[in-house]
Amino acid sequence: MNTLQTTSAEPRYSRRLADLEASPIREILSVIDRPGMISFAGGLPAAESFPALDLAAVPPAALQYGPSEGDGALRRQIATELAERGLACPPEQVLILSGSQQGLDLVAKLFIDPGTTVAVEAPTYLAALQSFRFFGASFVALERDEPGRALAAKPAFAYAIPTFQNPTGHCYSKDERAALAAACDEAGVLLFEDDPYRDLAFDDCARTPVCARLRKAPWIYQGSFSKSFAPGLRLGYLAASKELIPYLTRLKQSADLHSNRVSQWLVLGFLQAADREERLARVVELYRARRDAFEKGLKRHFADLARWSTPAGGLFFWLELSRKIDTRTLLAPAIARGVAFMPGENFYADRPDACGALRLNFSHANEEEIDRGLAILAGLIRQAD
Ligand code: PMP
Repeated sequence: MNTLQTTSAEPRYSRRLADLEASPIREILSVIDRPGMISFAGGLPAAESFPALDLAAVPPAALQYGPSEGDGALRRQIATELAERGLACPPEQVLILSGSQQGLDLVAKLFIDPGTTVAVEAPTYLAALQSFRFFGASFVALERDEPGRALAAKPAFAYAIPTFQNPTGHCYSKDERAALAAACDEAGVLLFEDDPYRDLAFDDCARTPVCARLRKAPWIYQGSFSKSFAPGLRLGYLAASKELIPYLTRLKQSADLHSNRVSQWLVLGFLQAADREERLARVVELYRARRDAFEKGLKRHFADLARWSTPAGGLFFWLELSRKIDTRTLLAPAIARGVAFMPGENFYADRPDACGALRLNFSHANEEEIDRGLAILAGLIRQAD
């Protein structure tokens, strides 16, 4: 009999494992594939937005091991694009990542010991909280209107998503960008700017990276090809102050040697394609229409239940209910009625009992599903005490 399935000896797990939480997103994602489920939960791009693939054209060289930093041509292309965004840095300061999620892990490994303070927006991206917590971070809230306050606590770094934030959808104004950069410079605190949504811009707004405004603070800026091309490619990048690159490269090497070279080759092709701008414009148009349909549904079903700001880009609406109910209690009944969403409490470092907010993704469901799903959610909220 094969007995390898079960063991009697308890493995000795690392102490760190105590801080490893199951991600609420991944657990919700596991139910959204059920037939008929309307998902407002994950940040899933619309499948219609994915580029056409010609895998037969991939050169055999892309199947060989490659440099940990990433392929030179892709790093050069990214450095050129960063300079166009106002963030001039040489290709040697660009590292290719296996998704920008890997940047969160590498930066956590570089800076966080148990008890290290990190400044994060409240709310912020929940998988960033998860990565930072795993290494024992404690958190202070980085306020948009007064970023200097959190930095007085001398955090190891300030983590911010200034453009179409996850979860709120907010895009920092020019003044908010200037204030964050000035506060980091003044306090000498490293700015870690996460910018995966910048290409999904529906309305005009300031998008120059905050890192481009820094005068002396160290910086890390990261981006992703998940939203503008396809998340299954698992490809992102970071650029950073020169002195950080050798450390980040070693951490990258020990994590996975290098990112998938087939993905790197495909992304370089997408970035250099003659029809790149038209393709992106079509994707943006598709999402703008979904955002508008979503807002129409919100006005119809949530006008007396919640407040929200129209996101100028990205993938999310953030709804603040007029009553501060714990939205986690709505999740099971919502899923039972065929609708998934993300409770707002998960996005706060200080784990509030109830915040009365929901994050709703508008890119995945079609217009009929949006209306039906919002009607179901609104009905549940009306019934909740
Ligand atoms: N940062 C933020 C703010 C995100 O919202 C996401 C994905 N939803 C990521 C990083 C990770 O994206 P990826 O690994 O697909 O590049």
